[in-house]
Amino acid sequence: APAALRELLLSRITDVPDHPQPGVVFKDITPLLADPVAFGALTDAFVDLCARHRVDKVVGLEARGFILAAPVAVRAAVGFVPVRKAGKLPGETLGQTYELEYGSAEIELHVDALAPGDRVLVIDDVLATGGTAEASLQLIRRAGAEVAGVAVLLELGFLAGRQRLEPGLKGAPLEAL
Ligand code: AMP
Repeated sequence: APAALRELLLSRITDVPDHPQPGVVFKDITPLLADPVAFGALTDAFVDLCARHRVDKVVGLEARGFILAAPVAVRAAVGFVPVRKAGKLPGETLGQTYELEYGSAEIELHVDALAPGDRVLVIDDVLATGGTAEASLQLIRRAGAEVAGVAVLLELGFLAGRQRLEPGLKGAPLEAL
């Protein structure tokens, strides 16, 4: 993103040490959400990506990905599709488990939420280890759709999520604003 936008976005993200557990520095985006200028500029940047990569649908990852992706869908005039933690979606779902530092997690997608050939942009707030985003790419492909890219507000470079995600992207872009 351009330097001025980066500065604006970074100024609205707060570090919260030892949340939700000791040793983790939580990136709190609630100040950004509360600022319509910053939230609007972020939304515009995601909308630009939708146009540039000819996106048909945006997938938001629970929960902050929902908040960021919903206004993008409206402004870009594309559908919004939620990827949720297992057990939340009411319809028939595809599920994908993935490894965490300790144990594993599962996310789900409605089986009929994407049309074959749909170009899909995954949106989330923070790319950490990349496990969640990687699993979402598998769901999108299993649903018969195409991955147009992954777009996040913030990438935590020291966790090497980009490296973990790389094979699953198969050449699609990972954009960290
Ligand atoms: P990961 O699968 O490790 O890339 O984790 C990504 C998910 O966890 C995203 O949906 C983020 O919202 C959340 N997350 C992970 N680490 C942080 C952090 N340090 N601050 C805020 N959110 C985080």
